[in-house]
Amino acid sequence: MRDEIVAHARESAPQECCGLLLGDEDVVRRVLRCRNVHPTPETRYVIDQAQVFDAFRQSRDFDRELVAIYHSHPRSPAYPSPTDRAEAQWPEAGYVLVSLRTESPEIYAYRIEQHAVREIPLVEP
Ligand SMILES: [Zn+2]
Repeated sequence: MRDEIVAHARESAPQECCGLLLGDEDVVRRVLRCRNVHPTPETRYVIDQAQVFDAFRQSRDFDRELVAIYHSHPRSPAYPSPTDRAEAQWPEAGYVLVSLRTESPEIYAYRIEQHAVREIPLVEP
């Protein structure tokens, strides 16, 4: 799962990539690449809402299946930016950040609640 996210980040650089990590509560089973539709994708991201809606429609219980939202920071650390914190809309989901600023990419998961950031483990089956 980490390798898939890193691959997506590298293919998208210098733009930020984004997507959904789907699974069961805290366990990630699937990486769903999404389009970054933000007008300045080098420094910001917005997931294509049509893809989120499709994933929602195909899921029996989307709240349970949506483990995390991921995006990349091509040049900055793997930590939620002030914008990431302000725009975090899903307190139930994790936010996974991958940074390409170092040779071996850093990847961390967080919970963002009311602008407060807490690191959480990234669980694979
Ligand atoms: Zn960000």
